[in-house]
Amino acid sequence: MVTTHGRHFGFVTGGTDPAAGAAAILAGAWDQNPGAYSPVAEAIDEVACAWIVDALGLPSTTVAAFNGGATIANLTGIIAGRDALLARHGWDVAERGLAGAPTLRVIVGEEAHVSVLKALRLAGFGQAHIERVPTDATGAIDATQFPEDTDALTLVVLQAGNVNTGASDPFAAIIPGVRERGGWVHVDGAFGLWTAASPRLRHLVAGVDLADSWATDGHKWLNLPYDSGVVAVRDGADLHRAMHSDADYLPADPRAMRNRGIQISQRARGVEAWAMLASHGRSGLADIVDRSCAHAALLAQLLADGGAEIIAPVALNQVLVRFGDDAATQTVIAAVQAEGTTWAGGTVWRGRHAMRLSVSDTATTVDDVRAAAAAILEAAAVTR
Ligand SMILES: *Cc1c(COP(=O)(O)O)cnc(C)c1O
Repeated sequence: MVTTHGRHFGFVTGGTDPAAGAAAILAGAWDQNPGAYSPVAEAIDEVACAWIVDALGLPSTTVAAFNGGATIANLTGIIAGRDALLARHGWDVAERGLAGAPTLRVIVGEEAHVSVLKALRLAGFGQAHIERVPTDATGAIDATQFPEDTDALTLVVLQAGNVNTGASDPFAAIIPGVRERGGWVHVDGAFGLWTAASPRLRHLVAGVDLADSWATDGHKWLNLPYDSGVVAVRDGADLHRAMHSDADYLPADPRAMRNRGIQISQRARGVEAWAMLASHGRSGLADIVDRSCAHAALLAQLLADGGAEIIAPVALNQVLVRFGDDAATQTVIAAVQAEGTTWAGGTVWRGRHAMRLSVSDTATTVDDVRAAAAAILEAAAVTR
C-alpha cells in the first residue's frame, strides 16, 4: 500500500498535503538556498517559522528554523542547550571545545525516542551518562519520580507524543522546577507538539511552552513532504551561539539558516510549510489534529468491539492493539499487510507484541477507518 493512502497507518507517516506538494515542486525548480544566501527564501522561512511558533503557542521570543527532521531538530536543540548551560558557567564551547568542560547532568524519560538518544550521543553524552526517569502506564514520565535536585548544569529532554502511545510527559509539573534551578529543558515533539495547535486538545501538552527548546516535524502530522523538521529555541541568542557559521564570502545575515541550524546549503523548506499553513489556516491546522485523534479513537473502539485488546490508553492519534498472544498478533499484522486494505506495523509495548496504528494523514476518512477496522478484524478471525 502506498504510504500516502488514507488507510496507511504505519510508523508516523503523514501524507502530502496538495498545496505543500505543489509548493515543493515549485521550490525545487526555483532551487533557492536559504542556508547560504536567498533573501526571498529566508523571508518565506521566517514568516512560516513565525506562524508555526504562534500556532504552537510558544513564547513570542522564540526563534525557529527548518531542518531535515526531528532527529536533526533534537540534535540542534540539545547542542543549543548544552552550549548555553556551559556559557552561563563561563565556558565557551566554540573557543575551548568540550574536553575539560564542566560535566553536565543529563536526564530523559525511560520512553525517550531513539533519535533523542542518538542526538545525545552525537552531542557527547553516552548511554552510561544519561539518567532515565521511570514512566507510568501511558508511557509518560512519572512526575513523582523526577529528581528535585537538578542544578544549573542539568539538561533535561522531555517528550510530547510517545511514539507508541501518543502520551506526553507532565510538562507543567517538571519544567518550572528544572528552569528555576537553572537547568535547560528540551522537548522532543516530533508529532505530538502539534497537539498544541488544537484549542480542544492542547490541554494534553499543557506547560510545553515553558521549555527552552523544542523539536518537531513537518513531514509527520503537518503532512509536508520529506524531509522537513523544525527546531525552536526560546532565546534566539542561544541558537545563534551554537550554530553560527558566517564566512567572508557569505553575506552576513543572522536569519540565514546556516546560523540557525547544522546545515549550510539546504532546500527552501519554508516554501511548502508556508503554502500548507496559508491554505489551511489556524483552524485548519487544529482540525487536522482533532480529526486524526477522533479517527484513532474510533479505530480503537471498532477493534475493541470486535474482540481485540487495546493495550494502552489512546492518548492521541496512536493505537496499540493485540490479538491473543505474541505469535497470533504477529500473524495478524503479517496477514493485514499482505491483504492490502490497510497497512499497520508492529511494536513491543511493555514486553508484549502489538499492532501499532498511527493516524497521521489528512487523507484519512471515517470510511477509511471503518474499512481498515473491518479488514483487521477479518484477518484476526481467520488467524483464530
Ligand atoms: C519520528 C520521531 C522522531 C524522529 O524524527 P525524524 O523526522 O524521523 O528524524 C523523534 N521523536 C519522535 C517522538 C518521533 O516520533
